[in-house]
Amino acid sequence: MSQLRVLVGCKRVIDYAVKVRVKPDKTGVVKEGVKHSMNPFDEIALEEAVRLKEKQVASEVIAVSCGPQACQETLRTALAMGADRALHVEVSGSEYEGLLPLGVAKILAALVKKEEANLVVLGKQAIDDDCNQTGQMLAALLDWPQATFASAVSVEGEGLAVTREVDGGLENVRLSLPAVVTADLRLNEPRYATLPNIMV
Ligand code: AMP
Repeated sequence: MSQLRVLVGCKRVIDYAVKVRVKPDKTGVVKEGVKHSMNPFDEIALEEAVRLKEKQVASEVIAVSCGPQACQETLRTALAMGADRALHVEVSGSEYEGLLPLGVAKILAALVKKEEANLVVLGKQAIDDDCNQTGQMLAALLDWPQATFASAVSVEGEGLAVTREVDGGLENVRLSLPAVVTADLRLNEPRYATLPNIMV
């Protein structure tokens, strides 16, 4: 099989351990001065992509973050975890507030074409908006097969074998490539990005 070029979505979100506070005017939540991190499901997505690279199934892992300048921190973590390259699509202020999953999916679809990626791994959902839509919309825009809520991914012949977590238990599906996969919690345990690696 020809080697995979993998694009991974890495959204910067309020850290999962932060107790989120609603703004006094009730227009949203307080984000200023609050710790942010990579969306936990995106860490899992990135770990899976890096493991494919380590197994020499993937030739390149590209991390993508759409959002304000501070996303560069998230991308530095992605590089420290093993991504080969990082792409920042800067969207800030009210434009970022209005950036919905369809907008992100359109950006990712354009990057897939530009980078000639043949696998996209996203988190199953972002823990700030809990939308669980971007992967599905991206697959529809690209007209690629999708396997959402993945708890195991392996390469089989010219395609992928994916185990999905569904309401009734587990479902095994086979996909041809190119494809979109979204990561569920039990897919793997992401490695820890050490501080020296983040700083280089
Ligand atoms: P959502 O559909 O918003 O729950 O997000 C699902 C997944 O899409 C996330 O786990 C990310 O992998 C990806 N994603 C969503 N928003 C962004 C963003 N602004 N930058 C990079 N990836 C994103």
